[in-house]
Amino acid sequence: MKESEIRNNYLKKINELKKHNKLYFEDSSPLISDKDYDKIKKDILNLEKKFSYLKDASSPSISLGFTPSKNFIKSKHRVKMLSLSNAFDTEDLENFEKKIFNYLNKKIELEYSVEPKIDGISASLTYKNGSLIMGTSRGDGTTGEVITENLKTIKDIPQKITSKDFPKDIDIRGEVFIKRSEFDKLKNDFANPRNAASGSLRQKNPNETKKIPLNFVAYTYGYFESDKIRKQSDFLNFLQRWGFKTSEHNKILNSIDDLRNFHKKFEKERFDLEYDVDGLVYKINSLELQKRLGFTANSPRWAIAHKFSADSAFSKIIDINIQVGRTGALTPVARIKPVNIGGVVVSNATLHNEDEIIRKDIRISDTVKIERAGDVIPHVILVDLKKRDKKSKKFNFPLTCPSCGSETIKEFNKITKKYDAVRRCANEGYQCEKIAIEKIKHFISKEALNIDGLGKKVVEKFWDLKLIRFPQDIFNLDYNQISKLEGWGDLSVSNLKFSIDQSKRFSATVNVRLEIFKNQGKSIARASASRSQTLREDASPNLQSRLWYHLVERLMKSFDREMRDQINTHLKPYIS
Ligand SMILES: [Zn+2]
Repeated sequence: MKESEIRNNYLKKINELKKHNKLYFEDSSPLISDKDYDKIKKDILNLEKKFSYLKDASSPSISLGFTPSKNFIKSKHRVKMLSLSNAFDTEDLENFEKKIFNYLNKKIELEYSVEPKIDGISASLTYKNGSLIMGTSRGDGTTGEVITENLKTIKDIPQKITSKDFPKDIDIRGEVFIKRSEFDKLKNDFANPRNAASGSLRQKNPNETKKIPLNFVAYTYGYFESDKIRKQSDFLNFLQRWGFKTSEHNKILNSIDDLRNFHKKFEKERFDLEYDVDGLVYKINSLELQKRLGFTANSPRWAIAHKFSADSAFSKIIDINIQVGRTGALTPVARIKPVNIGGVVVSNATLHNEDEIIRKDIRISDTVKIERAGDVIPHVILVDLKKRDKKSKKFNFPLTCPSCGSETIKEFNKITKKYDAVRRCANEGYQCEKIAIEKIKHFISKEALNIDGLGKKVVEKFWDLKLIRFPQDIFNLDYNQISKLEGWGDLSVSNLKFSIDQSKRFSATVNVRLEIFKNQGKSIARASASRSQTLREDASPNLQSRLWYHLVERLMKSFDREMRDQINTHLKPYIS
């Protein structure tokens, strides 16, 4: 798919989501089930995960507090909780100032309150006469869900404030988040700390919320009247006095140059914080000026979020391991301190090969920059030499295979007259455990036989139990033994049996096979006996099965005679 098509598809889903948000929040008449709603949301998040350039302000990863849930009563915010517009570079910042000057019709000195943008869930707390009477989620910005009891479980949220200067009626707003270290301890399916915080807040039972240590940092107000407070920075000081936590990194800056320099510095430093920060927020410090500037339909004119790169992050290398691949290639992989890159927690990054480690002088315990863009495996880009300490250790690339102990080789390329950068296990056959497992994994993978219920983890388990040693073994599994394994009930055993059986033939799983052919089909069709015919859904079963067999033959190219013969005895009965 072309980039424009991907983007259009993405925006279509965003608009669909917006429509259903409105139906639920404003009209209280949802058209689709929660499950279908979640599906749209998931599709959007998956697209963002795959193509990091996609990110719309209305994306559920940015905009919504959490999925509207029927579990909670809704409440309209007294003052809308709008999202901020985003800046990605200096030009965006200059435009932001320009718009302010245009709106005011003059150029003035601006003072900014600068605050880290914590990657959490926004919440609003209503206090009357010093008592917390209601807490709501952001919801869609206009209406939020009443989650008072859940918010009350957060120790950073005071329930009673006795300061004399605390306003009689005020909405305090801030961010609910979970620390990275706490997230690491959680055994859950959440992709990142933000999702975990959101999931915890939307528990129906506050006792469930209580189990996950959430934090709250206050940063602004919604409804509130005061003539005493004139600046955002003063308000932040008052918040502290009243017993709220505010960010210790808040500061005041005066020019775009200062903002840019601080952003550059903080972009690196943020990885030393205990929680995820995805940008800096710049607010015009004067509340009077804020009032004059007001809002556009979607966001305040007096504030902007200057985002950090969503494609890269800094983290520390804990160790370097060697992975042995299907072709025997030894790939060094850095085990890094888990870090959130664009919504995905990354704990491994490839170092490609031996030469790359030497060229970039990458050492264990170094702080490195890691990039994760699109579908590419996260990789280490550079070392932050300023952060290198005495503990940093050079990595000695092994000269023998860590799996089988065989000698490793670098092939000499006759054309470039250079040795290959990749070191390989010389024992390329099935005697090297890691190579054998990887070869079997490939044989059953989506790109090959595509056997449901026989994933990579299962292959590893079956290997450990000596149930498989060669690809052909999957056709002779000992189901009696498998049925005795933990987690393998009758149903999963018969499902596995069924899908292995299906993999022998083409017709039963035409759609899956068509997908494979879409990717690999052209060259297979060309190589096949029926050159003139291309595979279509309405192709005759005979042709389908023949083409299918050609694909399997191709997969078996590296197999020896005996292996091929054994597999053929299983497949041939289905080839017409
Ligand atoms: Zn080996």
